[in-house]
Amino acid sequence: MSENKNTSCIFCKIARGEIPSYKVYEDNEILAFLDINPASRGHTLVVVKEHVDDVTKCPRHLLDRAFEVAQMIAQAMVSQLGADGVNILTNAGEVAGQSVPHFHIHVIPRYINDGLKLTFPPKQLENKEMEDLKDILNKAL
Ligand code: AMP
Repeated sequence: MSENKNTSCIFCKIARGEIPSYKVYEDNEILAFLDINPASRGHTLVVVKEHVDDVTKCPRHLLDRAFEVAQMIAQAMVSQLGADGVNILTNAGEVAGQSVPHFHIHVIPRYINDGLKLTFPPKQLENKEMEDLKDILNKAL
């Protein structure tokens, strides 16, 4: 599963060791390294070594492994970096802010007064639309 043949993808190159990175964790399936443009002190990316475009395409086993590693890193951020909290998130698709089309999880340690704002301005939806949305998603699952 650690085989990685994508030639142009920057995270594939990092996974193959062709581009340097500040490695935080590595095993045969998963690599974690510091984000080159950190949103906070210790901001880390967890990637699956095999090329997978985004979270929606990721095989379940690798998804489980990636989030397992993300959780371990989040715990280390709290215990070793003195983080007061952690954001764990992944962007899927350009419209969602994904700039590198290789599945990765951001693990962002948060510190009191770090000034970082990850806000979700609320949309007002009618009750009927909320019901419909719930039904559509519920039926698909
Ligand atoms: P996203 O916008 O969710 O796709 O996140 C991509 C992240 O990759 C950004 O936060 C970038 O700062 C980070 N990034 C891009 N190139 C590198 C690199 N060579 N090493 C480490 N992080 C990188």
